[in-house]
Amino acid sequence: MKQYFFEAIIIGSGAAGYAAADRLFQFGVENIALITEDRLAGTSRNTGSDKQTYYKLTMTGDQPDSVRQMAETYFEGGAIDGDTALCEAALSARCFLHLAELGVPFPANAYGEYVGYKTDHDPAKRATSAGPLTSKLMTEALERRVIMTGIPIFDHCTLVRVLAVDDQAEGVLCYSTEEHDYVLFRSRHIVYATGGPAGLYARSVYPGSQHGSTGLALEAGAVGKNLTEWQYGLASIGFRWNVSGTYQQVLPRYISTAADGSDAREFLREALPDEEIFTRTFLKGYQWPFDPRKTEGSSQIDILVYQETELKGRRVYLDYRENPAGLAGDLSNIGAEAHEYLERSGVLSGTPFERLAKMNPKAIDLYRSHGIDLEHEMLEIAVCAQHNNGGLAGDDWWQSNVRGLYPVGEVNGSHGVYRPGGSALNAGQVGALRAAQHIASSDRGEKPLSEEVLRQAEERIRQMEGLAKGASNTAQIRRQLSTRMSLHAAHIREEQSLREIAEAARQELDGFWQSCTVSEAFAEEDRLQAICDYDLLIAQYVYATAMADAIQNGVYSRGSYLVEQGMDNGSHNAMVQEAVVKDGEVRTWFRPVRPIPDSEQWFETVYNQNSKTST
Ligand SMILES: Cc1cc2nc3c(=O)[nH]c(=O)nc-3n(C[C@H](O)[C@H](O)[C@H](O)COP(=O)(O)OP(=O)(O)OC[C@H]3O[C@@H](n4cnc5c(N)ncnc54)[C@H](O)[C@@H]3O)c2cc1C
Repeated sequence: MKQYFFEAIIIGSGAAGYAAADRLFQFGVENIALITEDRLAGTSRNTGSDKQTYYKLTMTGDQPDSVRQMAETYFEGGAIDGDTALCEAALSARCFLHLAELGVPFPANAYGEYVGYKTDHDPAKRATSAGPLTSKLMTEALERRVIMTGIPIFDHCTLVRVLAVDDQAEGVLCYSTEEHDYVLFRSRHIVYATGGPAGLYARSVYPGSQHGSTGLALEAGAVGKNLTEWQYGLASIGFRWNVSGTYQQVLPRYISTAADGSDAREFLREALPDEEIFTRTFLKGYQWPFDPRKTEGSSQIDILVYQETELKGRRVYLDYRENPAGLAGDLSNIGAEAHEYLERSGVLSGTPFERLAKMNPKAIDLYRSHGIDLEHEMLEIAVCAQHNNGGLAGDDWWQSNVRGLYPVGEVNGSHGVYRPGGSALNAGQVGALRAAQHIASSDRGEKPLSEEVLRQAEERIRQMEGLAKGASNTAQIRRQLSTRMSLHAAHIREEQSLREIAEAARQELDGFWQSCTVSEAFAEEDRLQAICDYDLLIAQYVYATAMADAIQNGVYSRGSYLVEQGMDNGSHNAMVQEAVVKDGEVRTWFRPVRPIPDSEQWFETVYNQNSKTST
């Protein structure tokens, strides 16, 4: 087995991982490597939305803004630590401008002002966008820079174990499909940029290549934080894309069919009067994430879709070919707000497709480029997981409780109940910068591996190589775990079912290395599928337990999920729930949020401080 030593390693080739590599090099930490299972995989490079958003301090016009105000916006989202919120606000401008300098085409006006717009949970027009593929453009710009510096990239190299003893990281064990062997990376500084644990959900708008590796960090003793907090919403599932904005505002038909395509019904009519259907569909356009405060409004649509797909086993489609039943020819029965909007857009007639063609032809082109013709066919949808606000816990340098392990990007749970749209992309850049600053000022000398870490590596190799050969069941394990997560641990939750899926995950973990089988012909690929299943089962065990414990402790419907006990009363908004798995048991607890610090504002004092933030 090959072994390497690096002063720091980065796992993941998304926007956060590349940013960390770039920053480390910038700060003089040059003996580093980036490791990725597939350079082209992951969320940043393969996802987008109507107007994919980056959230940053206002830098335009005459509207005042301040770092403190922006930190408070984050903080008001609930269950958020003030120190990381302050860092995300303070460094947003620096990180944004860095991306702009690298060539990400954020629009500026004739005088160079980066004009912004208001995104959700944003009081100050701090949002900007380089278009539907902002995160892809960011990743590619950062990647160009990293390649230019000559930082080695170990592609097709999958992390299979985080090696840590007594809450100190010592390295990682990977499997390389180029070497067809295990590779050991020794490093006491691991930037963990593996993205959100997307593989947990069968119903998902994350790109298919993204599964995440949160479970392997939890296995190594890292603490999870706000694991209850996600964003779910309506998305197409053939080609994964959020059906927000004009996709809803043009008022398509919502059709449900039996699994075999028979028995097509406009199922919303079974629950709502026509006018309410049109009003709520229209609002869904800009109230995209499921929100338990809107179950009498636009979010009722998500619930009705969920009932069809998950509870009745039917399929749901958006149909742009014909108007919904009950829609007046002049669209006079769609509610005042929708009527005014569509009138101003000049589309008070025609079919949903014709309205879409007039209002947003690019929305049609997008699906066409993925082989879906909205003019002639229906678009299959479901309520899908989109983003994990929570994740692994980090301090204000993005370092986890496992020293030397720095979760950055979506795998870091720096957000809580609500967050402004675009915060995820900013948090990834800021976290990468902070982690790099911290690593640059740390002792990075080479140290021998401890006996225990060698034992961990040997154990994982034995487990993976010892998997029984036969008819592979890795895909079935994945399907089973992700289906139960979408059914019971997504936007509609109930304590007992969460306990049951946590228990199912625990039992499957107990017998995992004995019951998982890989095929003879594809043993290498299958073993990597197996480690992915194992990672996801650990994550499911911890996430589902945290969700159940939160309900038991009186945290009710909030953020993007609904529980039968009703709306949350905000009593836990100043608390963060954390979770850890130790000796096979999950333990969760609540702690008060860290407040926004009263940071030093006197220039001479800061000037004379020898701070690692001065890099
Ligand atoms: C549809 C959609 C729309 C979104 N819109 C917005 C938006 O408008 N604004 C916003 O701020 N955010 C948005 N987000 C969220 C945002 O895109 C992500 O949070 C962000 O891109 C994550 O970046 P990352 O670098 O942390 O992870 P990723 O880009 O997911 O990268 C993770 C990397 O880790 C690698 N990896 C994982 N496991 C392993 C392993 N075991 N071994 C080796 N490598 C591994 C992956 O292959 C990948 O390279 C959206 C997300 C979705 C799905």
